[in-house]
Amino acid sequence: MTVNIKRLNASQADFDSQLATLLAWDDSVDHQVNESVRHILHEVKTRGDKAVLEFTEKFDRLNVASVAELEMSQARLRQALKTIPEDQRVALQQAADRVRDYHERQDQKSWQYQDEDGTVLGQKVTPLDRAGLYVPGGKAAYPSSVLMNAIPAKVAGVAEVIMVVPTPDGVVNDLVLAAAAIAGVDRVFTVGGAQAVGALAYGTETIPAVDKIVGPGNIYVATAKREVFGTVGIDMIAGPSEILVICDGKTDPDWIAMDLFSQAEHDEQAQSILISPDADFLNAVETSINKLLPTMERADIIRTSMTDRAALIHVADLSEAAKVSNRIAPEHLELSVENPEALLEEIRHAGAIFMGRYTAEALGDYCAGPNHVLPTSGTARFSSPLGVYDFQKRSSIIGFSAKGADRMGRVASVLARGEGLTAHARSAEYRIKND
Ligand code: NAD
Repeated sequence: MTVNIKRLNASQADFDSQLATLLAWDDSVDHQVNESVRHILHEVKTRGDKAVLEFTEKFDRLNVASVAELEMSQARLRQALKTIPEDQRVALQQAADRVRDYHERQDQKSWQYQDEDGTVLGQKVTPLDRAGLYVPGGKAAYPSSVLMNAIPAKVAGVAEVIMVVPTPDGVVNDLVLAAAAIAGVDRVFTVGGAQAVGALAYGTETIPAVDKIVGPGNIYVATAKREVFGTVGIDMIAGPSEILVICDGKTDPDWIAMDLFSQAEHDEQAQSILISPDADFLNAVETSINKLLPTMERADIIRTSMTDRAALIHVADLSEAAKVSNRIAPEHLELSVENPEALLEEIRHAGAIFMGRYTAEALGDYCAGPNHVLPTSGTARFSSPLGVYDFQKRSSIIGFSAKGADRMGRVASVLARGEGLTAHARSAEYRIKND
């Protein structure tokens, strides 16, 4: 069964509307999920540990007497690290080292300067006290998610990173616990879904409240994060994964087909797009897709994703490819061209940019170093990858000298009186010299 992939041509009059249709996806709110999540959050907020235990039994079929029994000790994490196969331990460690090394360069420093009046102004950078990390665990386990979310928090200086991960039927994934040990996660609770998000947001007798919750999850987790935003910070609500490849037509079509699959295999709504000025190359990649698809373990998911959401877009040249890509603002962008540096100058919006034919996006998912938590659904227009800066906040520093208070107090007084705020005006005026 061949896959029929949509073909678009940037020179066609209706290209804009075709592109808009291609990018649209069903993000409609499910009212039943909303109701259910609100109920779970309310119960956790009002009944704490008891509610967490009830929902864990209901949804994960795990029956224990206390939430303390759901905590994995540091010794248990270290044991997991010893238990996993040697090659996996080494790979996790190598990935963690690179992720840490990259993120250490993002560490922000406090700064101050003094103006001519001796007034000191600046910014104090402070890590969050506590971060909560949701690690999905319902259907599959994601050790790379542990590294990508926990390491930036620890590099930022967050004192306590609390991880939650569901363990359906009590089945614990040692690779996930090993990743937590390597990343330096402080506490791990085997709780999942909306009840875990609620516990982190409001705190229970056993699970401490955090300041920000990060990490991906299913619809219940995403809805719960949206609901608790305001009580705590959140990283983002991620949409389906996306890859956009710009290719000059000189890369092996099999490589490009597999790069497109690497996102398509995530889920049916994932989006894979190839843009090229070479029409023959687009045909060659389509041939590769149909040749390789039957060899894929997740062929059914890939087929649906490629049929519903993939596209092959023909453009006049690489400059036009960059323009189309900027309109899409993809999560992952591969520049599979001879001179990626030159094309990079024309790229304005993308979560992560993979430079040249040898840079498979998959390396970025695991071990390149940069974060794999990236803005999706065009949000790269205004947001950035998860980073150390997401776990640090800034306070303004303002310290007026007597001379500065005199000079700027006069300005503040005029503006405050203009706004009719007399206390503001007088507060500033007290500090004005009257001689
Ligand atoms: P999950 O941990 O997100 O969800 C499991 C939990 O969902 C359960 O513990 C349960 O509490 C809750 N739940 C299940 N059915 C429920 C119901 N009927 N009512 C209330 N709560 C219910 O694990 P998952 O389900 O495997 O989903 C993982 C998701 O994370 C996937 O959608 C995957 O694509 C996504 N993911 C995204 C990234 C990324 O970087 N964007 C990375 C990894 C995973």
